[in-house]
Amino acid sequence: MTDLPSFDDVVAAARRLHGQAHRTPALSSRTANAQLGAEVFFKCESLQRMGAFKFRGAYNALAQFDAAQRKAGVVAFSSGNHAQALALAGRLLSIAATIVMPRDAPPAKLAATRGYGATVRLYDRYTEDREQISRELAQQQGMTLIPPYDHPHVIAGQGTAALELLEDVGELDALFVPLGGGGLLAGTLLAARALSPRCRVYGVEPEAGNDGQRSLRSGSIVHIPTPDTLADGAQTQHLGQITFAIIRREVADILTASDADLVQALRFFAERMKLVVEPTGCLGLAAARRELERLGLQGRRIGIIVSGGNVDLARFASLLAR
Ligand SMILES: *Cc1c(COP(=O)(O)O)cnc(C)c1O
Repeated sequence: MTDLPSFDDVVAAARRLHGQAHRTPALSSRTANAQLGAEVFFKCESLQRMGAFKFRGAYNALAQFDAAQRKAGVVAFSSGNHAQALALAGRLLSIAATIVMPRDAPPAKLAATRGYGATVRLYDRYTEDREQISRELAQQQGMTLIPPYDHPHVIAGQGTAALELLEDVGELDALFVPLGGGGLLAGTLLAARALSPRCRVYGVEPEAGNDGQRSLRSGSIVHIPTPDTLADGAQTQHLGQITFAIIRREVADILTASDADLVQALRFFAERMKLVVEPTGCLGLAAARRELERLGLQGRRIGIIVSGGNVDLARFASLLAR
């Protein structure tokens, strides 16, 4: 396997991202502190460029392309935040981005990806294989395929969010991190181990798709069908090889949150903190609200990564009204 990324790689990523990514705020809320019985710091990646932490990993990966890679461009398959992140990073670095997206993807997402300057290659999700299309583009046109999480440069970039949080608020007793394929969690673990060695880092995935939890318990990567959950940014079917190697070595545990818990957290962010957070971005708070006492973390200093805010407003309104 490729060498695992290290904390030094996170620090190097932070240098590349300086002036390109926002240093997002670490917000606190007295109401959250009172409700959770802890001192809570929210790292607001919903306020990151393009609306999610994924910009960090995408930019860090593209910034390391050599001349030939820059010329041939980047390709990715994604209908979510990774697509928009690569599109924006490509535009900033003058690297052409091609995103393979399903023909029936939400029009707003297609428009946003094109709006950042990417070429969208549509495919039929029932008859075509997006990974194969992407590999063909990579082979025939020399494009570099950047996966959404299982890549050392992507992981190092994602780790810069926790790096900033720990720099800004100091050491923490625990950190709650949304988990899909594990890029954000693995990067966070690298940063936390170096800057706050006693911090317990928890991954949080949707209850309906607890492959990460099962992987950790069994010691090998568990594959599941696409889970049915409101957390569309964490509908991954399995962890990555690199992300799992870091996660199993370092994580305190992997927790889950139900759709009902996500909606409650989403409403808390909107009502109390005036933040628009997408359901996946609510995973950390949802688990912290339910588990803090059981984990013996009351009265402690807690970090919660609010991973993104890209939610269609009509959908957001209907979730608030539930
Ligand atoms: C991609 C994504 C996640 C999951 O990140 P992984 O690196 O795949 O674990 C969580 N929240 C949001 C908003 C995302 O876009």
